[in-house]
Amino acid sequence: MSIAQHLHETRNSLPEGVTLVAVSKTKTEADILEAYRAGQRVFGENKVQELVAKAEALPKDIQWHMIGHLQRNKVKYLVGVTHLIHGVDSEKLLQEIDKRAGQAGIVMDCLLQVHIAEEATKFGFDADELTALVESDRLTALKHVRIRGLMGMATFTDNQEQVGREFRSLKTLFDRVHALLPGADILSMGMSGDYPLAIAEGSTMVRIGSRIFGSRNYG
Ligand SMILES: *Cc1c(COP(=O)(O)O)cnc(C)c1O
Repeated sequence: MSIAQHLHETRNSLPEGVTLVAVSKTKTEADILEAYRAGQRVFGENKVQELVAKAEALPKDIQWHMIGHLQRNKVKYLVGVTHLIHGVDSEKLLQEIDKRAGQAGIVMDCLLQVHIAEEATKFGFDADELTALVESDRLTALKHVRIRGLMGMATFTDNQEQVGREFRSLKTLFDRVHALLPGADILSMGMSGDYPLAIAEGSTMVRIGSRIFGSRNYG
């Protein structure tokens, strides 16, 4: 099947109200254009340099989402290029985004990344840290970032029970954040292998790569 066919199939499997981020990391501009011609406008990348290069080369009505781990010294390249930063995993990073967005005279939409997996390698706030931050008045001082919601990645495992539990814990936290920050209405969870479960647990945005574009080549 072609990329366009995989894209249609994936889209048709999503309920209304769930946004599809087509994760195009490592994929060529030709692959992305195929998905674009099939109607896709939201794409996700996990490396700043790759995102910026693709944004420069490809149609300007694409919304680029930064879904990977972001280092503070790279924030300046993303501001004004990225529609949504999913992986904000520290207050320092948030402050840097605020500073750079302020210099550019814009407001940057961000998701706070929460560590929900048992794996030690995944980035993010833990639940207590996140709650403390959102309940504090420290966010109101940041005039150039807008917290649009939360993002998380479940453990990479076949254990559906565990993955469901992790998504559920993120949804619970999301409901709490949403009550405090009404503009935080995005819950980004679910990838090729686990997105139906993520949707069942309340996801509003899924990040799907290999199911659309095929497996990735890291060379
Ligand atoms: C690569 C990636 C995805 C997409 O993964 P697939 O399994 O290919 O769907 C989703 N989210 C993040 C943060 C990623 O880095």
